[in-house]
Amino acid sequence: MKAAVYYGPNKVEVADVPEPDPKPGTVKIKVGFNGICGTDLHEYYAGPIFVPTEPHPLTGQQLPLTMGHEFSGTITDVGAGVTGYEPGDRVAIEPIYRCGRCAPCRAGTYNVCQQIGFHGLMSDGGMAEYAVVPADMLHRLPDNVSLELGALVEPMSVAYHAATLGEVGPLHTAVIFGAGPIGIGLWFALRGKGLDEVYVVEPSPTRRAAIETLGARTLDPTTIDVPAFITDHTEGRGADAAYDAAGVAPAIAAATACVGARKPTVSVAIYEKPLPTPLLNLVMNESRIQGSLCYTSADFEAVIDLMAQGVYDTTGWVTPIAIDDVIDEGFEALHAGKKMKVLVNPNGEAS
Ligand SMILES: [Zn+2]
Ligand SMILES: [Zn+2]
Repeated sequence: MKAAVYYGPNKVEVADVPEPDPKPGTVKIKVGFNGICGTDLHEYYAGPIFVPTEPHPLTGQQLPLTMGHEFSGTITDVGAGVTGYEPGDRVAIEPIYRCGRCAPCRAGTYNVCQQIGFHGLMSDGGMAEYAVVPADMLHRLPDNVSLELGALVEPMSVAYHAATLGEVGPLHTAVIFGAGPIGIGLWFALRGKGLDEVYVVEPSPTRRAAIETLGARTLDPTTIDVPAFITDHTEGRGADAAYDAAGVAPAIAAATACVGARKPTVSVAIYEKPLPTPLLNLVMNESRIQGSLCYTSADFEAVIDLMAQGVYDTTGWVTPIAIDDVIDEGFEALHAGKKMKVLVNPNGEAS
């Protein structure tokens, strides 16, 4: 079968690899779609970062590996001991390996497991015609949720988890910095939680246009004083939560200046450069910066529910491609900013 195999920096090849068989406790799925995310780009251009170069303690796997941790598919075969699933079931994969023993795992917050691993980074993933996945990673998709949306459950759960940490509800005002895939996911999650007052701050005109098409209100930080605008629009209270999905210093500075007293700025970004921390803003308002990492199964279930209710829309920001085009139309196009979210269809025709 075809698989996009990662050998190391700048080397991903669509190779012919043996079709995997399900082991006990796993299922085999025919992959529907697999999203390429920022983590995959980092591995491709600057890795290996998460991909192990010696056997991983939880998976036993190492380079070379089939990439892909954001995927959906249809079960074709069920390994020994698996109950509750059968061939034909459509599923999304929650790709976290956890140790099950550390303090966060014991508390149920396995998204911050001290030994966290990812299916598709520490083991063969979803950029292949077939994948074998532990049964405890499966989430069933309702009939009205497509396999395209199924592949988006993972990144949308990253955003949903962050949205929840902002502790907001229907009458609240929220500000999102950054309109990439996670910013878009935050917007859907906050809409799904019943918020009407959500502003998206994004300097790129193309990204603003994409999220406006989905119905969002945007602010251009190059022409507007965002904290002053938010103060104005909240009768001086400030936002109930701000979210940083941009990962740059000006976004954190503006976000902490937007939130009201004792309110959170939730960070769901990776910072490539050290940041000046706006401690004075935080102290004077008793506000805080709250980190957000990954998701747990509750976030997956909440996102799938909202997808079934029609909250999520792929118009204008999601592009499906064939696996043969994964370098040019996938990695290179994303790296050049020509596409926002690419879903690889390993079982589809080349374009
Ligand atoms: Zn990802
Ligand atoms: Zn753990």
